[in-house]
Amino acid sequence: MKRFLSVENLTLIAIVLGIAFGYFFPKAAIATEVVGQIYLALLKMLIIPLVIASIFVAITSLEDTSELKSIGLLAFAYYFTTTALAVTLGLVLFNIFEPGAGTTLVANINTPNHIIQPKELGISDFLLSFIPTNIFAALAKGAILPIIFFTILFSVAALFILPPKRQTLFNFFDALNDSMMVLAKWVITLTPLGVFALLGATVAKNGLEPILNLYGYVLTVLAALAIHAALVLPAIAYLIGRFNPYSYFWQIKEAPLIAFSTASSSATLPVSIEVAETKGGVSKKVAGFVLPLGATINMDGTALYESIAVMFIANISGVELTLAQQITIFLTATFASIGAAGIPGAGLVMMTMILDSVGLPSEYIALIITVDRFLDMFRTAVNNWGDLLGTKIIDSLLARHFRSQHRGLAY
Ligand code: ASP
Repeated sequence: MKRFLSVENLTLIAIVLGIAFGYFFPKAAIATEVVGQIYLALLKMLIIPLVIASIFVAITSLEDTSELKSIGLLAFAYYFTTTALAVTLGLVLFNIFEPGAGTTLVANINTPNHIIQPKELGISDFLLSFIPTNIFAALAKGAILPIIFFTILFSVAALFILPPKRQTLFNFFDALNDSMMVLAKWVITLTPLGVFALLGATVAKNGLEPILNLYGYVLTVLAALAIHAALVLPAIAYLIGRFNPYSYFWQIKEAPLIAFSTASSSATLPVSIEVAETKGGVSKKVAGFVLPLGATINMDGTALYESIAVMFIANISGVELTLAQQITIFLTATFASIGAAGIPGAGLVMMTMILDSVGLPSEYIALIITVDRFLDMFRTAVNNWGDLLGTKIIDSLLARHFRSQHRGLAY
Protein backbone atom coordinates (compact mmCIF):
# COMPACT_ATOMS: atom_id res chain seq x y z
CA MET A 1 0.00 0.00 0.00
CA LYS A 2 2.81 2.35 0.95
CA ARG A 3 4.52 1.64 -2.36
CA PHE A 4 1.34 2.34 -4.24
CA LEU A 5 0.94 5.66 -2.44
CA SER A 6 4.35 6.89 -3.61
CA VAL A 7 4.60 10.50 -4.76
CA GLU A 8 5.03 9.33 -8.38
CA ASN A 9 1.82 7.28 -8.38
CA LEU A 10 -0.13 9.95 -6.59
CA THR A 11 1.14 12.48 -9.16
CA LEU A 12 -0.15 10.31 -12.00
CA ILE A 13 -3.55 10.08 -10.33
CA ALA A 14 -3.50 13.85 -9.66
CA ILE A 15 -2.90 14.54 -13.36
CA VAL A 16 -6.02 12.61 -14.38
CA LEU A 17 -8.15 13.98 -11.54
CA GLY A 18 -6.90 17.54 -12.13
CA ILE A 19 -7.91 17.45 -15.80
CA ALA A 20 -11.36 16.05 -14.92
CA PHE A 21 -11.76 18.63 -12.14
CA GLY A 22 -10.93 21.53 -14.45
CA TYR A 23 -13.28 20.25 -17.12
CA PHE A 24 -16.31 19.54 -14.94
CA PHE A 25 -15.88 22.16 -12.23
CA PRO A 26 -14.10 25.08 -13.93
CA LYS A 27 -15.12 27.68 -11.33
CA ALA A 28 -13.86 25.61 -8.42
CA ALA A 29 -10.68 24.82 -10.35
CA ILE A 30 -9.94 28.49 -10.90
CA ALA A 31 -10.65 29.20 -7.24
CA THR A 32 -8.08 26.59 -6.17
CA GLU A 33 -5.43 27.72 -8.65
CA VAL A 34 -3.57 29.43 -5.81
CA VAL A 35 -2.56 26.01 -4.45
CA GLY A 36 -0.78 25.30 -7.75
CA GLN A 37 0.78 28.74 -7.75
CA ILE A 38 2.15 28.20 -4.25
CA TYR A 39 3.69 24.91 -5.33
CA LEU A 40 5.24 26.55 -8.39
CA ALA A 41 6.56 29.44 -6.32
CA LEU A 42 8.21 27.00 -3.90
CA LEU A 43 9.94 25.23 -6.78
CA LYS A 44 11.08 28.51 -8.33
CA MET A 45 12.42 29.66 -4.97
CA LEU A 46 15.04 26.89 -5.17
CA ILE A 47 16.25 27.51 -8.72
CA ILE A 48 18.91 30.19 -8.31
CA PRO A 49 20.67 28.92 -5.16
CA LEU A 50 20.56 25.42 -6.58
CA VAL A 51 21.93 26.37 -9.99
CA ILE A 52 24.88 28.22 -8.44
CA ALA A 53 25.66 25.62 -5.79
CA SER A 54 25.31 22.62 -8.07
CA ILE A 55 27.48 24.07 -10.84
CA PHE A 56 30.13 25.17 -8.36
CA VAL A 57 30.25 21.79 -6.62
CA ALA A 58 30.22 19.93 -9.95
CA ILE A 59 33.11 21.89 -11.43
CA THR A 60 35.29 22.11 -8.34
CA SER A 61 35.00 18.39 -7.63
CA LEU A 62 36.43 17.51 -11.05
CA GLU A 63 39.90 15.99 -11.12
CA ASP A 64 41.17 18.71 -13.45
CA THR A 65 40.07 21.09 -16.18
CA SER A 66 40.41 18.40 -18.85
CA GLU A 67 37.52 16.54 -17.21
CA LEU A 68 35.45 19.71 -17.42
CA LYS A 69 36.35 19.99 -21.08
CA SER A 70 35.17 16.41 -21.72
CA ILE A 71 31.85 16.95 -19.92
CA GLY A 72 31.33 20.31 -21.63
CA LEU A 73 32.11 18.99 -25.10
CA LEU A 74 29.96 15.91 -24.64
CA ALA A 75 27.08 18.04 -23.34
CA PHE A 76 27.20 20.44 -26.28
CA ALA A 77 27.55 17.59 -28.79
CA TYR A 78 24.52 15.91 -27.25
CA TYR A 79 22.43 19.11 -27.10
CA PHE A 80 23.16 20.02 -30.68
CA THR A 81 22.69 16.54 -32.20
CA THR A 82 19.43 15.81 -30.44
CA THR A 83 17.98 19.26 -31.17
CA ALA A 84 18.88 18.90 -34.87
CA LEU A 85 17.30 15.43 -34.92
CA ALA A 86 14.16 16.80 -33.27
CA VAL A 87 13.72 19.60 -35.82
CA THR A 88 14.37 17.19 -38.70
CA LEU A 89 11.80 14.78 -37.33
CA GLY A 90 9.29 17.63 -37.02
CA LEU A 91 9.86 18.69 -40.63
CA VAL A 92 9.67 15.11 -41.96
CA LEU A 93 6.47 14.31 -40.10
CA PHE A 94 4.95 17.57 -41.20
CA ASN A 95 5.69 16.78 -44.84
CA ILE A 96 4.10 13.34 -44.42
CA PHE A 97 0.88 14.41 -42.66
CA GLU A 98 0.61 17.93 -44.07
CA PRO A 99 -1.88 19.17 -41.45
CA GLY A 100 -3.85 22.18 -42.65
CA ALA A 101 -3.11 21.57 -46.34
CA GLY A 102 -5.89 22.91 -48.54
CA THR A 103 -7.47 25.05 -45.82
CA THR A 104 -6.79 28.73 -45.95
CA LEU A 105 -7.79 30.30 -42.73
CA VAL A 106 -6.49 33.79 -42.38
CA ALA A 107 -9.15 36.06 -41.01
CA ASN A 108 -9.66 38.23 -37.99
CA ILE A 109 -6.30 37.73 -36.47
CA ASN A 110 -6.34 39.18 -33.06
CA THR A 111 -3.33 38.48 -30.97
CA PRO A 112 -2.97 39.66 -27.41
CA ASN A 113 -0.24 42.28 -27.40
CA HIS A 114 1.85 40.63 -24.73
CA ILE A 115 2.45 37.63 -26.97
CA ILE A 116 4.04 39.50 -29.83
CA GLN A 117 7.44 40.78 -28.92
CA PRO A 118 9.46 40.46 -32.11
CA LYS A 119 13.03 39.70 -31.25
CA GLU A 120 15.33 42.13 -33.01
CA LEU A 121 18.50 40.79 -31.52
CA GLY A 122 21.78 41.27 -33.36
CA ILE A 123 24.67 38.88 -32.82
CA SER A 124 26.59 41.33 -30.63
CA ASP A 125 23.56 41.92 -28.38
CA PHE A 126 23.13 38.16 -28.21
CA LEU A 127 26.73 37.60 -27.10
CA LEU A 128 26.65 40.49 -24.63
CA SER A 129 23.44 39.20 -23.10
CA PHE A 130 25.41 36.30 -21.61
CA ILE A 131 27.69 38.53 -19.57
CA PRO A 132 26.21 39.91 -16.36
CA THR A 133 27.82 43.33 -15.87
CA ASN A 134 26.29 43.30 -12.41
CA ILE A 135 25.88 39.80 -11.02
CA PHE A 136 23.52 40.99 -8.30
CA ALA A 137 21.23 42.57 -10.86
CA ALA A 138 21.24 39.29 -12.79
CA LEU A 139 20.44 37.39 -9.59
CA ALA A 140 17.64 39.77 -8.72
CA LYS A 141 16.16 39.47 -12.20
CA GLY A 142 16.60 35.71 -12.24
CA ALA A 143 18.44 35.90 -15.57
CA ILE A 144 19.54 32.29 -15.72
CA LEU A 145 21.97 32.25 -18.66
CA PRO A 146 24.14 35.11 -17.35
CA ILE A 147 24.08 33.50 -13.90
CA ILE A 148 25.25 30.19 -15.36
CA PHE A 149 27.95 31.98 -17.38
CA PHE A 150 29.26 33.74 -14.28
CA THR A 151 29.12 30.61 -12.11
CA ILE A 152 31.05 28.52 -14.64
CA LEU A 153 33.80 31.14 -14.86
CA PHE A 154 33.84 31.62 -11.08
CA SER A 155 34.09 27.86 -10.48
CA VAL A 156 36.87 27.39 -13.03
CA ALA A 157 38.76 30.29 -11.44
CA ALA A 158 38.41 28.58 -8.06
CA LEU A 159 40.29 25.59 -9.51
CA PHE A 160 43.33 27.85 -9.81
CA ILE A 161 43.46 29.20 -6.25
CA LEU A 162 45.26 27.61 -3.30
CA PRO A 163 43.58 24.31 -2.29
CA PRO A 164 42.84 25.28 1.34
CA LYS A 165 41.07 28.45 0.18
CA ARG A 166 39.17 26.52 -2.48
CA GLN A 167 38.12 24.05 0.21
CA THR A 168 36.47 26.86 2.18
CA LEU A 169 34.38 27.87 -0.82
CA PHE A 170 33.67 24.24 -1.63
CA ASN A 171 32.42 23.48 1.88
CA PHE A 172 30.08 26.45 1.74
CA PHE A 173 28.57 25.63 -1.66
CA ASP A 174 28.44 21.91 -0.94
CA ALA A 175 26.46 22.56 2.24
CA LEU A 176 24.22 25.02 0.37
CA ASN A 177 23.66 22.42 -2.32
CA ASP A 178 22.78 19.70 0.18
CA SER A 179 20.38 21.97 2.05
CA MET A 180 18.63 22.94 -1.18
CA MET A 181 18.28 19.26 -2.02
CA VAL A 182 16.61 18.62 1.33
CA LEU A 183 14.26 21.54 0.65
CA ALA A 184 13.60 20.15 -2.84
CA LYS A 185 12.62 16.81 -1.29
CA TRP A 186 10.13 18.58 0.96
CA VAL A 187 8.61 20.50 -1.93
CA ILE A 188 8.42 17.30 -3.99
CA THR A 189 6.10 15.74 -1.44
CA LEU A 190 3.57 18.48 -2.33
CA THR A 191 3.67 17.53 -6.02
CA PRO A 192 0.34 15.65 -6.24
CA LEU A 193 -1.52 18.58 -4.71
CA GLY A 194 0.27 21.18 -6.83
CA VAL A 195 -0.17 19.24 -10.04
CA PHE A 196 -3.86 18.68 -9.38
CA ALA A 197 -4.46 22.41 -8.86
CA LEU A 198 -2.27 23.52 -11.78
CA LEU A 199 -3.87 21.19 -14.29
CA GLY A 200 -7.38 21.92 -13.04
CA ALA A 201 -6.85 25.65 -13.59
CA THR A 202 -5.18 25.13 -17.00
CA VAL A 203 -8.07 23.04 -18.31
CA ALA A 204 -10.65 25.40 -16.78
CA LYS A 205 -9.07 28.41 -18.48
CA ASN A 206 -8.34 26.93 -21.90
CA GLY A 207 -11.02 24.25 -22.27
CA LEU A 208 -10.53 21.21 -24.45
CA GLU A 209 -12.49 22.38 -27.54
CA PRO A 210 -9.67 24.19 -29.38
CA ILE A 211 -7.73 20.93 -29.37
CA LEU A 212 -10.54 19.26 -31.31
CA ASN A 213 -10.67 22.11 -33.84
CA LEU A 214 -6.97 21.89 -34.62
CA TYR A 215 -6.69 18.12 -34.27
CA GLY A 216 -4.54 17.55 -37.41
CA TYR A 217 -1.90 19.95 -36.17
CA VAL A 218 -2.11 18.77 -32.57
CA LEU A 219 -1.78 15.12 -33.58
CA THR A 220 1.23 15.81 -35.81
CA VAL A 221 3.03 17.59 -32.96
CA LEU A 222 2.14 14.85 -30.48
CA ALA A 223 3.22 12.08 -32.86
CA ALA A 224 6.57 13.74 -33.52
CA LEU A 225 7.15 14.36 -29.80
CA ALA A 226 6.26 10.73 -29.02
CA ILE A 227 8.63 9.34 -31.66
CA HIS A 228 11.45 11.58 -30.48
CA ALA A 229 10.93 10.75 -26.80
CA ALA A 230 10.16 7.05 -27.09
CA LEU A 231 12.40 6.00 -30.00
CA VAL A 232 15.04 8.51 -31.13
CA LEU A 233 16.40 9.56 -27.72
CA PRO A 234 16.25 6.04 -26.23
CA ALA A 235 18.11 4.69 -29.30
CA ILE A 236 20.95 7.15 -28.59
CA ALA A 237 20.95 6.15 -24.91
CA TYR A 238 21.04 2.49 -25.80
CA LEU A 239 23.72 2.72 -28.50
CA ILE A 240 26.00 5.31 -26.93
CA GLY A 241 25.21 5.24 -23.21
CA ARG A 242 24.70 1.43 -23.23
CA PHE A 243 21.95 1.42 -20.63
CA ASN A 244 18.25 0.65 -20.73
CA PRO A 245 16.54 4.03 -21.25
CA TYR A 246 13.09 2.75 -20.36
CA SER A 247 14.03 1.48 -16.92
CA TYR A 248 15.91 4.76 -16.39
CA PHE A 249 12.72 6.63 -17.33
CA TRP A 250 10.85 4.64 -14.74
CA GLN A 251 13.34 5.71 -12.07
CA ILE A 252 13.22 9.42 -12.86
CA LYS A 253 9.63 9.79 -14.14
CA GLU A 254 8.76 12.24 -11.38
CA ALA A 255 10.65 15.02 -13.19
CA PRO A 256 9.00 14.72 -16.65
CA LEU A 257 5.60 14.48 -14.92
CA ILE A 258 6.28 17.75 -13.11
CA ALA A 259 7.58 19.30 -16.34
CA PHE A 260 4.31 18.26 -17.97
CA SER A 261 2.19 19.77 -15.22
CA THR A 262 4.11 23.03 -14.81
CA ALA A 263 5.13 23.56 -18.48
CA SER A 264 8.37 24.96 -17.12
CA SER A 265 11.83 23.39 -17.48
CA SER A 266 13.28 25.85 -14.99
CA ALA A 267 10.72 25.15 -12.28
CA THR A 268 11.37 21.42 -12.76
CA LEU A 269 15.15 21.78 -12.42
CA PRO A 270 15.37 21.20 -8.64
CA VAL A 271 13.39 17.99 -9.05
CA SER A 272 15.48 16.87 -12.05
CA ILE A 273 18.72 17.22 -10.09
CA GLU A 274 17.26 15.42 -7.11
CA VAL A 275 15.90 12.42 -9.01
CA ALA A 276 18.89 12.11 -11.36
CA GLU A 277 21.26 11.81 -8.40
CA THR A 278 19.19 9.84 -5.92
CA LYS A 279 17.12 7.60 -8.21
CA GLY A 280 18.90 7.63 -11.57
CA GLY A 281 22.37 7.03 -10.13
CA VAL A 282 23.97 9.96 -11.97
CA SER A 283 27.08 11.43 -10.30
CA LYS A 284 26.82 14.83 -8.66
CA LYS A 285 29.52 16.34 -10.87
CA VAL A 286 27.71 15.43 -14.11
CA ALA A 287 24.15 16.14 -12.96
CA GLY A 288 25.16 19.39 -11.29
CA PHE A 289 26.64 20.77 -14.48
CA VAL A 290 24.70 19.19 -17.34
CA LEU A 291 21.17 19.59 -15.92
CA PRO A 292 21.15 23.35 -15.20
CA LEU A 293 22.70 24.04 -18.58
CA GLY A 294 20.35 21.61 -20.34
CA ALA A 295 17.23 23.06 -18.69
CA THR A 296 18.17 26.41 -20.15
CA ILE A 297 19.50 25.65 -23.61
CA ASN A 298 18.57 22.09 -24.58
CA MET A 299 14.93 21.99 -25.66
CA ASP A 300 14.24 19.26 -28.18
CA GLY A 301 10.49 19.39 -27.68
CA THR A 302 10.38 23.14 -28.25
CA ALA A 303 12.58 22.95 -31.36
CA LEU A 304 10.44 20.21 -32.88
CA TYR A 305 7.23 22.01 -32.00
CA GLU A 306 8.38 25.28 -33.50
CA SER A 307 9.31 23.72 -36.82
CA ILE A 308 5.89 22.07 -37.16
CA ALA A 309 4.01 25.15 -35.95
CA VAL A 310 5.65 27.47 -38.47
CA MET A 311 5.03 25.05 -41.35
CA PHE A 312 1.42 24.72 -40.23
CA ILE A 313 0.96 28.49 -40.10
CA ALA A 314 2.42 28.73 -43.60
CA ASN A 315 0.05 26.03 -44.82
CA ILE A 316 -3.12 27.55 -43.46
CA SER A 317 -2.14 30.99 -44.63
CA GLY A 318 -1.70 29.64 -48.15
CA VAL A 319 2.06 30.15 -48.35
CA GLU A 320 4.09 27.48 -50.14
CA LEU A 321 7.48 27.11 -48.47
CA THR A 322 10.52 26.37 -50.61
CA LEU A 323 13.26 23.96 -49.59
CA ALA A 324 15.52 26.90 -48.80
CA GLN A 325 12.85 28.28 -46.47
CA GLN A 326 12.52 24.90 -44.78
CA ILE A 327 16.27 24.92 -44.19
CA THR A 328 15.92 28.41 -42.73
CA ILE A 329 13.24 27.05 -40.42
CA PHE A 330 15.60 24.24 -39.41
CA LEU A 331 18.30 26.70 -38.41
CA THR A 332 16.12 29.31 -36.73
CA ALA A 333 14.08 26.69 -34.84
CA THR A 334 17.32 25.25 -33.46
CA PHE A 335 18.50 28.66 -32.25
CA ALA A 336 15.06 29.69 -31.04
CA SER A 337 14.94 26.61 -28.81
CA ILE A 338 18.32 27.51 -27.34
CA GLY A 339 17.17 31.07 -26.68
CA ALA A 340 13.78 30.12 -25.24
CA ALA A 341 13.54 30.49 -21.48
CA GLY A 342 12.36 27.49 -19.47
CA ILE A 343 9.00 29.02 -18.67
CA PRO A 344 5.47 28.42 -19.97
CA GLY A 345 4.84 29.85 -23.42
CA ALA A 346 8.47 30.88 -24.04
CA GLY A 347 8.53 28.87 -27.26
CA LEU A 348 5.62 30.86 -28.62
CA VAL A 349 7.43 34.15 -28.13
CA MET A 350 10.54 32.83 -29.86
CA MET A 351 8.40 31.71 -32.77
CA THR A 352 8.01 35.30 -33.93
CA MET A 353 11.68 35.09 -34.88
CA ILE A 354 11.15 32.05 -37.10
CA LEU A 355 8.05 33.48 -38.75
CA ASP A 356 10.03 36.59 -39.45
CA SER A 357 12.87 34.63 -41.03
CA VAL A 358 10.54 33.14 -43.64
CA GLY A 359 8.58 36.34 -44.19
CA LEU A 360 5.37 35.44 -42.35
CA PRO A 361 3.78 38.07 -40.10
CA SER A 362 4.13 37.32 -36.40
CA GLU A 363 0.42 38.04 -35.85
CA TYR A 364 -0.26 34.63 -37.43
CA ILE A 365 0.69 33.09 -34.11
CA ALA A 366 -2.92 33.79 -33.20
CA LEU A 367 -3.88 30.82 -35.37
CA ILE A 368 -2.37 28.32 -32.96
CA ILE A 369 -2.44 30.18 -29.69
CA THR A 370 -5.50 28.37 -28.39
CA VAL A 371 -3.71 25.04 -28.20
CA ASP A 372 -0.34 26.36 -27.14
CA ARG A 373 -0.65 25.68 -23.43
CA PHE A 374 -1.79 22.13 -24.11
CA LEU A 375 1.16 21.42 -26.42
CA ASP A 376 3.51 23.29 -24.09
CA MET A 377 2.97 20.64 -21.42
CA PHE A 378 4.02 17.84 -23.76
CA ARG A 379 6.99 19.65 -25.27
CA THR A 380 8.28 20.66 -21.83
CA ALA A 381 8.09 17.02 -20.67
CA VAL A 382 10.17 16.07 -23.74
CA ASN A 383 12.61 18.92 -23.07
CA ASN A 384 13.10 17.62 -19.56
CA TRP A 385 13.37 13.96 -20.60
CA GLY A 386 16.04 14.95 -23.16
CA ASP A 387 18.08 16.65 -20.43
CA LEU A 388 17.82 13.75 -18.02
CA LEU A 389 18.72 11.21 -20.67
CA GLY A 390 21.68 13.28 -21.86
CA THR A 391 22.95 13.56 -18.30
CA LYS A 392 22.85 9.81 -17.85
CA ILE A 393 24.51 9.19 -21.24
CA ILE A 394 27.39 11.54 -20.40
CA ASP A 395 27.73 10.01 -16.95
CA SER A 396 27.89 6.49 -18.42
CA LEU A 397 30.43 7.55 -21.06
CA LEU A 398 32.69 9.13 -18.44
CA ALA A 399 32.37 6.18 -16.07
CA ARG A 400 33.37 3.80 -18.90
CA HIS A 401 36.25 6.03 -19.87
CA PHE A 402 37.62 6.13 -16.34
CA ARG A 403 37.14 2.39 -15.82
CA SER A 404 39.18 1.67 -18.94
CA GLN A 405 41.84 4.16 -17.81
CA HIS A 406 42.12 2.41 -14.44
CA ARG A 407 42.33 -0.96 -16.18
CA GLY A 408 45.08 0.48 -18.36
CA LEU A 409 46.99 1.52 -15.22
CA ALA A 410 46.61 -1.89 -13.62
CA TYR A 411 48.33 -3.68 -16.49
N1 ASP B 1 7.73 25.74 -21.65
C1 ASP B 1 8.92 25.26 -22.28
C2 ASP B 1 9.95 24.89 -21.23
O1 ASP B 1 9.92 25.41 -20.15
C3 ASP B 1 9.49 26.23 -23.27
C4 ASP B 1 8.52 26.40 -24.41
O2 ASP B 1 7.62 27.24 -24.32
O3 ASP B 1 8.62 25.66 -25.39
O4 ASP B 1 10.80 24.05 -21.49
